[in-house]
Amino acid sequence: MSNAPDPRRRPSAVKTLDHTVAAVPLLQGRVLLHEHTQPIPRPRPALDDDLGGVVMTGPNADARAFQLRADVGFTGTLLIDSAAYTTYTATAERPFMAPPDELFATVHDSLNFQKARGASAALTPTGYIPPANSLALKAVLREANRIERADTLVSLPIDATWLNRENISQLIAVCAKIRHPKAVILFRQFDPLEQAKDIPANLRRLFTEVEHMSLLRTDLAALDVMAHGALCAGIGVRSSLRHAIPPDEKAQTGKRGGGPTYPHVLMPQLMCFKGAESLSTLYANADPAACACEECNGRGLDRFFLSDGETRREADSHNIFTWSEWVSDMASYRAGTERKAWWRNKCAAAVDRYALENQRIGQGATPRSGFQAPAPLKAWATLPITP
Ligand SMILES: [Zn+2]
Repeated sequence: MSNAPDPRRRPSAVKTLDHTVAAVPLLQGRVLLHEHTQPIPRPRPALDDDLGGVVMTGPNADARAFQLRADVGFTGTLLIDSAAYTTYTATAERPFMAPPDELFATVHDSLNFQKARGASAALTPTGYIPPANSLALKAVLREANRIERADTLVSLPIDATWLNRENISQLIAVCAKIRHPKAVILFRQFDPLEQAKDIPANLRRLFTEVEHMSLLRTDLAALDVMAHGALCAGIGVRSSLRHAIPPDEKAQTGKRGGGPTYPHVLMPQLMCFKGAESLSTLYANADPAACACEECNGRGLDRFFLSDGETRREADSHNIFTWSEWVSDMASYRAGTERKAWWRNKCAAAVDRYALENQRIGQGATPRSGFQAPAPLKAWATLPITP
């Protein structure tokens, strides 16, 4: 008997794609799950093979991504987000972060490395682009257009104020000149889309006016941009992965002190993420909303107020099943007006259900009691549809 390792089990069995394989067809129409490296990678049966995929982020995202390929046997669409923007701020001289321990490493090396670790396409290690820092934004354009590859997405980790009335035109002009597909990541404490009233409309404008735009590390804004012609999008598996925080700030959780964290649950009828703790309170004296997804199988949505791993896995799975169904519903409508109208009507129907659900569970219509429709959902339900 030979002691040689079985070649089928060696990491080299992971198939890699070189830089000539274009990113666009691999990503088109997909909503990816933005995963964190903290837990050991595992299969996500809730993810749709044809319309889903994974973005791996966090410390050692490349090693975790490789594990997901080699150990879990994941063969779907995969991106590696090294999240340079969490520690590095883009400057006019250096918009991309070079890997810290590799003095002579270039952006090209960083992109090649992601591909060697099993990524389907590569993301530039762009630093955080602060409010109104035009020089940093233009530096991204300059450096991005020097990249001679078909497989690269230029990541644009921008402060949410870039979507304000004063800045949106410049952002659109720069994005239109970048000749690679782009991946926007929005920065703001809490929900970036609630930063100013016109942000949901301006985000749509960016995605409608510029080709091959994607929005990563977000929440249901992923579906809004998909309905409006995005290349692809990514929804965070937990709330810290549904937006990003500038390198010099700490995440504000709206909660004092540490203590256990509980899952956020996507409400299928109301189309919002709600903390398990408040769901348990809201449904304390009423029948909880039930869910028909494969994970819940008719069970109530008040059952996630626990901090153990199994509850977290179930909540993740419920969330993924829920939005994946919406993604596949959306794909069944023709791109353009038909798809946009379907999305607007879906959001409007959800907004209309809040009062009913609050009455059903005996919560008055006063502010701060019961369920409150998020401002972006209301915007998606009412903004006009452009052909
Ligand atoms: Zn469910």
